[in-house]
Amino acid sequence: MMTGAEYRASLADGRQIFFEGQRVADLAAHPILGPAVDTVARCYDRFHAPGRGEGPLMGVPRSAADLKARIPLLHEADLVAHVTYQSIMTLTTAANRIGGESPQYAERIARYVAEVQRKDLRVTECITDAKGDRSLAPGKQPDADAYTRVVERRADGVVIRGAKLHISGAALGHELMVIPTKAMKPGEDDYAIACAVPVNAKGVKIVSTSYAPRHADTRDFPISSRHNCPEGFVIFDEVFVPNERIFLNGEVKHAAVFAHSLGLWERLGSLSFLADEADQLVGFAQLIAEANGLAQVAHIREKISEMIIHATLVRAALEAAIGNCNFGADGAAYPDELYTNAGKYQGAANYNAMVRHLHDIAGGSVLTAPAIADLENNEIGPLVRKYMAGANSDGEYRMKLFHAIRDLTADAYGGWKFVTNIQAGGGLYAQRIVTRKHYDLEGAKQKALKLAGMAEGAH
Ligand SMILES: Cc1cc2nc3c(=O)[nH]c(=O)nc-3n(C[C@H](O)[C@H](O)[C@H](O)COP(=O)(O)OP(=O)(O)OC[C@H]3O[C@@H](n4cnc5c(N)ncnc54)[C@H](O)[C@@H]3O)c2cc1C
Repeated sequence: MMTGAEYRASLADGRQIFFEGQRVADLAAHPILGPAVDTVARCYDRFHAPGRGEGPLMGVPRSAADLKARIPLLHEADLVAHVTYQSIMTLTTAANRIGGESPQYAERIARYVAEVQRKDLRVTECITDAKGDRSLAPGKQPDADAYTRVVERRADGVVIRGAKLHISGAALGHELMVIPTKAMKPGEDDYAIACAVPVNAKGVKIVSTSYAPRHADTRDFPISSRHNCPEGFVIFDEVFVPNERIFLNGEVKHAAVFAHSLGLWERLGSLSFLADEADQLVGFAQLIAEANGLAQVAHIREKISEMIIHATLVRAALEAAIGNCNFGADGAAYPDELYTNAGKYQGAANYNAMVRHLHDIAGGSVLTAPAIADLENNEIGPLVRKYMAGANSDGEYRMKLFHAIRDLTADAYGGWKFVTNIQAGGGLYAQRIVTRKHYDLEGAKQKALKLAGMAEGAH
């Protein structure tokens, strides 16, 4: 297994990373991206367990208890570790689903996953294509590269061209798991490509963006200064992929299997974060209500009760998704599709309403509280402290709560969260489709007919 120092050293591999118009020569030393490298390195050190083949984070769960036990560990880990686990599970799930018809791919996936676990590598999920005109199929686009595709087939591999957008942590990982973003139709064979590409492969260029705070004093950004991870706009400019790293090559009937497998694990991850985030929002609402002296006021209590009900139901969906897990042919456990998708949808769709309650309860200082550094100014510090004081709460304590709430919900990180909750994992529409597919609609109709006293099958 790698240490944090070994991880840092591993990034000096010639990878082509760009940030705000400049090529990044030294990722670890970069003023914006460097702190995110530190976070990944700290996670390597935290979970370093020499002698254990796969490490405590990256093993394949084999029971509901395994699935459940992994969640707090992943929440302690950084985002790149999290997406690595999801990538391993996506490939394992897809291998289970296509292994019967295409055993050669299942074998390659098993070898690749074992290598990633053994070398303790970080893998990011490259699924979302550029997509050009959304109303047109991949093969009908004016620019044929709008979806990542094979542009050349050789005896020893393929050459791919295209771009995968919004890839969380792409610049910080070692490997890019490339899979089709959706189902492909006959004739779209070149778009049915799944493979693994090293980040430093010739032709890979990653344009990074980041919501990390740019302020010198990060005390006013207590959350985003510790939790930030760049997104990557990943360009595959004629990249050669050798055969042993290809997991699908033209078999359109299997293209959607990869996207669906990723959707399941991505949404389980989102659901588990949404459950914790809902508790955090409740916590901040109660803390600021107490600091404002309003915790016993009826309309504030009602809003917090509503937030508590939301938090409880999101967690209940997470419990149901895990408790009703299914098993692949190799014994790997994977969460229930219905509860995972319905829970992720409910958590994400109502997140903004929970933030609205929090802002309503907290007051305008969410945006206007003076900086923590103002407390240290001899002239204004004592006055700021005095006028920021609340009910049994010192001005500094109350200011720190406001800064945390602003950072979490009303600044760059808060904006990132709003959009991420809606879009990451395929968008709300995707969760509605999968929920509907797995819900027992026929059973619901029968229950309605029975209640109405009507015969089964009546029209
Ligand atoms: C912060 C963040 C991190 C992300 N991380 C990753 C990652 O690590 N890996 C990764 O692969 N992706 C990642 N994503 C991408 C995410 O999965 C996509 O943003 C999402 O799937 C939507 O795709 P899009 O952004 O291209 O929007 P679009 O596809 O343009 O969708 C916009 C809207 O149009 C609708 N729509 C699109 N096409 C059609 C159509 N043909 N018919 C009807 N309606 C349509 C959609 O349902 C949606 O409502 C991330 C996104 C964000 C915001």
